[in-house]
Amino acid sequence: MVNESRRQRSNFSSREICKLCYHVNAVGFKVPDSTWRSVVPRRFWDDIVCLSCFTRLGDEKGVPWDERIEFFPVSLETNRRDANGQEMLEYEKGGSPHGD
Ligand SMILES: [Zn+2]
Repeated sequence: MVNESRRQRSNFSSREICKLCYHVNAVGFKVPDSTWRSVVPRRFWDDIVCLSCFTRLGDEKGVPWDERIEFFPVSLETNRRDANGQEMLEYEKGGSPHGD
């Protein structure tokens, strides 16, 4: 739980950790609110859910989640370059949240 409260998710281009499987979400995506709420359990509405978890949940619930989906692939290297041009992410100042 160290530094957990310092993590920020305001920058959409940052590498995000899925709240369901705890893997890095390398492909960000955006769907309409109605689709998001049909697929994702309510307690995760404000959290990060990776593409593979989202698609699995969507298929399980019979939701046509691909109708208006947009993708934002983010490699680690691109994310680093973006971070240099903007302010550094808080959790990166203190090292990796999960080690390597
Ligand atoms: Zn996931």
